Amino acid sequence: MSNITIDQLHMALCEANSIMLTVHVRPDGDAIGSMLAFYEALVGQGKTVYMAVDDIVPEKYSFLTYADHIHDVAYFEENPVSVDMLMVLDASTYERIGKIGALHSAPIFNIDHHISNTQFADYLYLKSDFAATGEIITDLCKNWNWPITESMANALYMAIATDCGFFKFSNTTANTLAMAALCVEQGARPHIISERIEAVSAERLELTKSVMQTISFHKDNTVATIELDPIAMAILKDDTDGFVDIIRNVDTVDIAILLKGESHDRTRVSLRSKRTDVNAIAQQFGGGGHIRAAGCTITGDIEEAKKQLLEVIG
Ligand code: 5GP
Ligand code: MN
Repeated sequence: MSNITIDQLHMALCEANSIMLTVHVRPDGDAIGSMLAFYEALVGQGKTVYMAVDDIVPEKYSFLTYADHIHDVAYFEENPVSVDMLMVLDASTYERIGKIGALHSAPIFNIDHHISNTQFADYLYLKSDFAATGEIITDLCKNWNWPITESMANALYMAIATDCGFFKFSNTTANTLAMAALCVEQGARPHIISERIEAVSAERLELTKSVMQTISFHKDNTVATIELDPIAMAILKDDTDGFVDIIRNVDTVDIAILLKGESHDRTRVSLRSKRTDVNAIAQQFGGGGHIRAAGCTITGDIEEAKKQLLEVIG
């Protein structure tokens, strides 16, 4: 593994003719927005580019240009392609790209902003003080004078905004706002993106009413938990955005925990905090992320996961 500079990254991209882009499983707004924008940027540079994700792409991102060009592993197994570079965006570990890694033997490049990055790639461009991978991609386009089209601007604005809670979270910096402003200058429409991303169905809101009943407080109300059982997870089709935000704003709460029951012996966890290093907590369970937003998977049902987490928090 070697860390590369912006010039080395530029040179490598100039030399590559064909590139496969990928992102982490259970892709979020930053992953999808960064990939779609970088796809368009690289096609604009005359490259042959493919986009692969080893997961379902949530329907709410389908309004973005080129979202229908994203394919899964089965597609590339049936239609194999040979590339000069596998470019991994927004993923901090090799496992998080699922089976995409096994599709190629090309050198792996990684553009990422996770402090927990395991340095799995052959070449890493890591900016852990950036709020979003979309912020990095916008910065790269600006530095290299690569045009930011209107569709790229919308994808990048969405990527940046979703990873910093629409400019509310502590990862929001002057540069985050400057890169978002550049996107708006290039045609991004903030209100349209908010409407698309934050739209909820009546069914989802009905479910939220019962999910609210699962909220519980611990450790003098400094820790709050909220639960999605496997039935709720099935109804939500894995789109759990927003649930942890219901409890993170409680005035006494430092650590907010969303427990996502995948089965009776597997619980995925989303951690958010105002003070505590939740990346360190997630890493104790083999996960990671950022200091104030991290995730992991725990063997056991929701109750077991909650017990183990509260023990580790101490
Ligand atoms: P979320 O709770 O929104 O799924 O994730 C919060 C942050 O933690 C994101 O930056 C995400 O990439 C990271 N994260 C979530 N789950 C995992 C995990 O299982 N492993 C690692 N390394 N990072 C994770
Ligand atoms: Mn991200």
